[in-house]
Amino acid sequence: MGKIIEGKITMGKIIDGKALSASIKDEVRAQVPALEKQYGRKPCLCVIIVGENPASQVYVRNKVLAAEFVGIDSLKIELPAETPEEALLERIAALNADPAVDGILVQLPLPKHIDEEKVIDAIDCGKDVDGFHPANVAGLWLGKDCIVPCTPAGILQLIDSTGVSLSGKHAVVVGRSNIVGKPVAKLLLDRNATVTIAHSRTADLGAVTSQADVLVVAVGRAGLITGDVVKPGAVVIDVGMNRDAEGRLCGDVDFASCADKASWITPVPGGVGPMTIAMLMVNTLRCFLARS
Ligand code: NAP
Repeated sequence: MGKIIEGKITMGKIIDGKALSASIKDEVRAQVPALEKQYGRKPCLCVIIVGENPASQVYVRNKVLAAEFVGIDSLKIELPAETPEEALLERIAALNADPAVDGILVQLPLPKHIDEEKVIDAIDCGKDVDGFHPANVAGLWLGKDCIVPCTPAGILQLIDSTGVSLSGKHAVVVGRSNIVGKPVAKLLLDRNATVTIAHSRTADLGAVTSQADVLVVAVGRAGLITGDVVKPGAVVIDVGMNRDAEGRLCGDVDFASCADKASWITPVPGGVGPMTIAMLMVNTLRCFLARS
């Protein structure tokens, strides 16, 4: 069953991340009034942004809008780019100690003079809605109940929405970052997929991706993956967020050629991006419940 894209019938069905994200946010929204009644307060997410990176400002705005939509409290702290590291660490310490705050998210990247690792380590791991704190990373790899990073968690939801079972499938993840590639590989492994992680030093990337029943691409290079290196019938998840020559948002996957080969494929925009935000709402709720 194909879809018509720009007048052309393609093989792949589109995984609608926007719709899935909306249904997850609706579920969160439906729970908030009962939680407020039971615990006497709403969950509260605090988002900190340092500096004026335009992409970060868009992400932060969307996160705060999502919080407003689901009906939880949100707090946006905007700090100037020249904020000393110590001052940021002090703000985090105050938020850690604030009983009204359930989730703390520091938007990355941070200005060069601030050590991101130090900042992530400073966040109370019980309020670490991004799932980047070493305690949560360790929890993920040890198979413990912990906060899972939003983008990888959203990717699993997108795959699940297709009804395709991961067990015994060959999943190839392109990219090995701490925020996407590595955690999503672990989540796929937990679902009994056979997982290959490819990266910039992988010899013959196309030969590797051609074997993937499930292909997750998180690199940051527009059009890196083309249809000729996609296995027929694969599920293709495009995490990339790039700008093309005209300034339009695009992924790492050449959509038209890959949609012809894939059974399911995520678009950019409208795929992984909205799911990241929906999972942030889920993580905030989880932190709230764990603390209440
Ligand atoms: P990152 O930290 O820069 O990591 C990129 C990874 O891609 C690295 O592991 C790198 O390999 C690998 N790579 C680079 N060039 C490659 C090539 N030619 N062939 C194969 N692998 C290559 O990026 P990230 O933070 O994971 O983000 C990846 C992309 O996802 C970006 O476009 C980002 O904007 C997007 N993203 C989207 C969301 C969302 O919510 N939609 C969330 C997070 C990230 P080495 O390790 O060998 O250098």
